[in-house]
Amino acid sequence: MKIVTYEVEGRRKLGILNAGEQWVYPLECFGMDYRDMEEAVTGMSESEIQLLNAKAGTDPYEIPGAAQLSEVKLLAPIPCPRRDVICLGVNYMAHAEESARYKKQEFSGERPYAVYFSKRVHQASGPFDGIPAHRDLTEKLDYEVELAVILKKDAFRVSEAEARDYIFGYTVINDVSARDLQNRHHQWFFGKSLDGFFPMGPCIVSADEISYPPKLELRSRVNGELRQDSNTELLIFGIDHVIHELSQGMTLQAGTIIAMGTPAGAGLGFDPPKFLKPGDVVECEIEGIGTLRNPVVE
Ligand code: MG
Repeated sequence: MKIVTYEVEGRRKLGILNAGEQWVYPLECFGMDYRDMEEAVTGMSESEIQLLNAKAGTDPYEIPGAAQLSEVKLLAPIPCPRRDVICLGVNYMAHAEESARYKKQEFSGERPYAVYFSKRVHQASGPFDGIPAHRDLTEKLDYEVELAVILKKDAFRVSEAEARDYIFGYTVINDVSARDLQNRHHQWFFGKSLDGFFPMGPCIVSADEISYPPKLELRSRVNGELRQDSNTELLIFGIDHVIHELSQGMTLQAGTIIAMGTPAGAGLGFDPPKFLKPGDVVECEIEGIGTLRNPVVE
């Protein structure tokens, strides 16, 4: 099931993409009245997911309220996350190397512990929304394609073996970053949390549709030029490890979004660096989920 949040005729709805991904079918036509994605993520039963999987193959002309994807506006699947997004830093070896090089630091190739930080997201951007350049604040605007995991129930003291039972599904995010703010403040929170720095979507794919652990190609492009090209099987710290480790001392609430880190090829990794400027178009794509396509705007 690929579940989306969308707007049609001024109304915000939840729906699923049909098998050909040309149509969206509103959940309400299947008798589901979840008010928003977080309610759906935490409340949806396995049998409802199976029903929706089956309905995705139905002819659109048999679905009341079906709309062509081109006729609706896709929003971020979770437009207003209720809590900060948990992020993994430097969680692919090649990106760890390029980040160290950018900061002119030695890199030993060892990474014994995961790097965690949080990103404030007061409003997630839709899959085709503009990324504000914030030119008054940053000259080093950068992109990071990442796989994000959405939890469906509260996780506390979860073992690695149980971790996958807590996952509702997966989405694509762009962890947009202002490198100069990130470095100047010695802490990533500010430089990662400016308004518009969290494009997300285009859908959430339910966990049953992706083999576990996910081995998915992920790529980014800027103005069509391939920048990042890797696979989520290369994560240093995998999803099991992260859910287990963090849940030892803190409850990860249902609806939590965990962004798993970005591979090599972010703008800072090039010599000279290739930062974003207004007019650029950033695409972030993960196999089996979809593509974000966000222009950088003044
Ligand atoms: Mg990141």
